[in-house]
Amino acid sequence: MNHPILFLVDDRPKVLDALAADLERRFGADHRILTEGDPGAALAALEELAGRGEEVALVVAGQRMAALPGVQFLLRAHELHPAAKRVLLVGRREWTPTNPAVRAMTVGQIDTYLFEPWLPVGRFLYLPVTQVLADWVPSRGPSFEGIRIVGPRWGTRSHELRDMLTRMGIPHGWYQATSAAGRRLLAEAGEDGTRLPVVVFHSGQVFVDPSDAELAAALGFGTRPAAGSYDLVIVGAGPAGLAAAVYAASEGLDTLVLEPRVVGGQAGTSTMIRNYLGFPRGIGGGDLANRALEQAWLFGANLVLAQRATGLRADGPRRLVRLSDGSEVGADAVVVASGVAWRRLGVPRLEALVGAGVFYGAAGAEARAMEGQDVFVVGAGNSAGQAALHLAKHAASVTLLARGPDLAASMSDYLIQELEQAPNVAVRLRTQVVDGAGGRRLEGLRLRRRGERSTEEVPAAALFVMIGGEPRTDWLAAVERDDRGYVLTGHDLLGPDGLPPGWPHRRPPLLLETSLPGVFAAGDVRHRSVKRVASAVGEGAVAVQLVHQYLDRQ
Ligand SMILES: Cc1cc2nc3c(=O)[nH]c(=O)nc-3n(C[C@H](O)[C@H](O)[C@H](O)COP(=O)(O)OP(=O)(O)OC[C@H]3O[C@@H](n4cnc5c(N)ncnc54)[C@H](O)[C@@H]3O)c2cc1C
Repeated sequence: MNHPILFLVDDRPKVLDALAADLERRFGADHRILTEGDPGAALAALEELAGRGEEVALVVAGQRMAALPGVQFLLRAHELHPAAKRVLLVGRREWTPTNPAVRAMTVGQIDTYLFEPWLPVGRFLYLPVTQVLADWVPSRGPSFEGIRIVGPRWGTRSHELRDMLTRMGIPHGWYQATSAAGRRLLAEAGEDGTRLPVVVFHSGQVFVDPSDAELAAALGFGTRPAAGSYDLVIVGAGPAGLAAAVYAASEGLDTLVLEPRVVGGQAGTSTMIRNYLGFPRGIGGGDLANRALEQAWLFGANLVLAQRATGLRADGPRRLVRLSDGSEVGADAVVVASGVAWRRLGVPRLEALVGAGVFYGAAGAEARAMEGQDVFVVGAGNSAGQAALHLAKHAASVTLLARGPDLAASMSDYLIQELEQAPNVAVRLRTQVVDGAGGRRLEGLRLRRRGERSTEEVPAAALFVMIGGEPRTDWLAAVERDDRGYVLTGHDLLGPDGLPPGWPHRRPPLLLETSLPGVFAAGDVRHRSVKRVASAVGEGAVAVQLVHQYLDRQ
C-alpha cells in the first residue's frame, strides 16, 4: 500500500527544498513528500495522481508564487483531490486583515496556514501539520479499529452507538451481519447473530446489544458514584460542566460530574469551533471535549457516565441529587450545567426514521456515510451552517433549508460566506420540511415554501435537523425556571423587596445561584445565557468561585 502524499508547491527552490527536508524528517516514515516548483506542472502532477487513485493528504502552496498565487492554486488542487487538506504558506510579517490567509480561512478555501519562516520548527511547522493531518480522513477508513460492531447500519441504536464512539474519538468499524466479514466476526465472537448489534472490543471482550452503561464501563469510565457524598456535584459534562470540574478539582473540592451520554455536550457535536480563544485554526468539538475531560481527570475530578440527574432536593444544608438508577448522591453544593437538547421537528414520519436517515445534530458521526448522496440540513444557526459545510466534504449535494428570509440574523458571517463559496451547497430560504418518505430508511422529503399551499417532493438520503435547543429541566422542580424552562439565577430571581420570594437568607443570591441556596447554574441552561462555548466555560469557572463563597459563609 502506498503511503499518502504531502504535495508541496512553491516557485522558490530554496524554500521548497527546506520545507521538504523539514517535513521529510518528521513525516517521511509514513508519507511520501513530493515537490513541484511550477504551479502548472504541479496541477498536471496532481491530476495524474488523482487518475491513479493515489491519496494526497496535504497540499501546501506558497502564496507568493508569481504564476499563480497559492490560494488560487489550492482552489484548483481541491477540485482534483477534494479530501486533501489545503495549506497556505504565508509571510510572517503580514499581520494585516488583508493577508490572503485571513480571507481564505474565513471563507473555507484553505484548512490551515503555515508561517514562513516556520521556526522554531516544532511549534510552527510540525504542530500545525500534525493537527491538520489528524483531521484528514483517509478514504480507506481507519486502519486500526478499536471496536468492531456487527449489526444494521441504520436505526436509532446503531446511530447512538456510532455517535458515542465517534465523539469519544474511538476508531471503530461497522459490519453488516450478512457480509462475509460480519459473519466471520460473529463466529469469532461465538455469536449466532440473533441479537444485534454485537460489539467486539480489540481486547476480545464481546457485548450483545450493550447498554450505554456497559459500554462506558468497558471503556474504563465510572458508571456509579464511588462515594455517597461530595463537596460539589456537577450535573452535565458540556463545556460549562467540564470547566467547573477543572476549576473545582484543581482548587481542592471533592468533585463529582454526572453525564448521561458523552462528554462535550453540544460543543462535542460541533465539527469545527473557530471562535474559541486560543485556537486560531479552530478545534473540533470532540477534541476540545476530550482535552477538557483529561484535564478534569488529571486534577482529580470524578466522572460518572450513563447517569442522568433525575431530581434535586434539599435536606437541611445538604443537597441531594437523584440519579437515573434511583440512587441519591449528596453534596455541599451543586452546579447545574445540563445545557439544552435539540428541539424536535415533530413530523411523525420523520421521527420514526431517527437514526435511519434522520439525525438530530451528529453530522460528524455520519458524514463519511454520506459519500455521493444528496442530503439536507434544517436550521439557520451556526450549528446548521457548520454541519452543511462538513457534510459537503463527502455528500454529492447539501441543501440547507431555513424558514426565515435570510441567514444573517442567526448565522455568523464567516459561515455564510463559506456556504456561498461551497460549490455543492445550496441554501433554500423560507422553506419548511412538512413530511418525509421511506420505509426502513429516509428516501425523500416533502417541502413547502412559506406562504404557499403546494408542496414539493425531493429525494433525500439524509436529513440533519439543527433547529436550536431547549432546556430539559423538568427534573429541576426545586428551583425557579422561566416559562421556557431555563433556570433563573442571581438578579433575575429578585422580588420587590430585593430578595427572591421564600429565600431563607438575608443576603441576596450570588450571581449564578438559583432559588435554592447552594445550587448554581452555568452555561446554556441558564436564563438569558449567551450560548457560546467560551461563555459556558467562563460561567463554569465563575460558578466554582461562587461555590467557594457559599461554602465559606456556611
Ligand atoms: C453543532 C453545534 C455547533 C456549535 N458551534 C459553536 C461554535 O462554533 N462556537 C461557539 O461558541 N458555540 C458553538 N455552539 C454552542 C455551544 O456548543 C454551546 O453554547 C455550549 O456547548 C453550551 O455548553 P453547556 O455546557 O452549557 O451545555 P451543553 O453543551 O448543552 O452540555 C450539557 C451537558 O449536560 C448533559 N445533561 C443534560 N441533562 C442532564 C441531566 N439531567 N443529568 C446529567 N447531565 C445532563 C448533556 O448530556 C450535555 O452533555 C455550537 C452548538 C452546536 C450544537
